[in-house]
Amino acid sequence: MSNAVIDFHTHAFPDTLAARAVSQLEHGGGMRAFLDGRVSSLLASMDSAGIGTSVICSIATKPEQFDPILKWSKQIASPRIVPLPSIHPKGPDPIGQARKVAEAGFAGIKLHPYYQEFNFDDEALFPLYRALDELGLLLVCHTGFDFAFPRDRKVDPVRILRVVERVPSLRLVTSHMGAWDDWDEVEKHLIGKPITMDISVSIDLLGRERARAMILAHPADRVLFGTDSPWGGQSETLRSLRALDLGEEREQAILWKNAEALLGR
Ligand SMILES: [Zn+2]
Repeated sequence: MSNAVIDFHTHAFPDTLAARAVSQLEHGGGMRAFLDGRVSSLLASMDSAGIGTSVICSIATKPEQFDPILKWSKQIASPRIVPLPSIHPKGPDPIGQARKVAEAGFAGIKLHPYYQEFNFDDEALFPLYRALDELGLLLVCHTGFDFAFPRDRKVDPVRILRVVERVPSLRLVTSHMGAWDDWDEVEKHLIGKPITMDISVSIDLLGRERARAMILAHPADRVLFGTDSPWGGQSETLRSLRALDLGEEREQAILWKNAEALLGR
């Protein structure tokens, strides 16, 4: 059964860019990558960890990256690789781009408020959120602070709630247990509510007891397995999740059932 595991949060780059992208990100964020950033390396990691499918979240750091990312996403899509293209909200036609993403058959898009320089609840973003909602596209968004940036509250639990309250049917997936390294606020505002979150780069920082308590207090169908590979190890994250002893039903929901439902599998 382990091959059914879906990692809902990974990153990879075209082979020609991978080495440079990973080393720049390592230096910018003070992180150590587990992999070299190529899709082939991710697939090898999936094989050794027992992961069936990875969702690759691309990030357009400039508006003109929309087209090349969309093209690359089409090239790498396979039963084991589910690419999410990225739209830069400050580009010329984000809503038209959302339509292109939907027409190409992708499950959704990824946004990153730090790399793309916006606050999650900026008024200017709502037309895009409504378009994603109408198109039925997932919005996977980096949430919480980010290693590589000052600790400005660009996408914290309060801002997340403001968006969800105004576009309640938006198919939002938050990262890092709701908001990376902002877990007091997550406990205060998000835990127990119908907010989907992945568990990437959170369990070890939270510690076993707190991570376990947060997950058990959250709706069982709203937690996804994710690693942030190459920034988190796939085998290592699987091991940390399993060590939480959540019980078989919760664990299976997190490892693949919830993700299958979101991806319509
Ligand atoms: Zn990530």
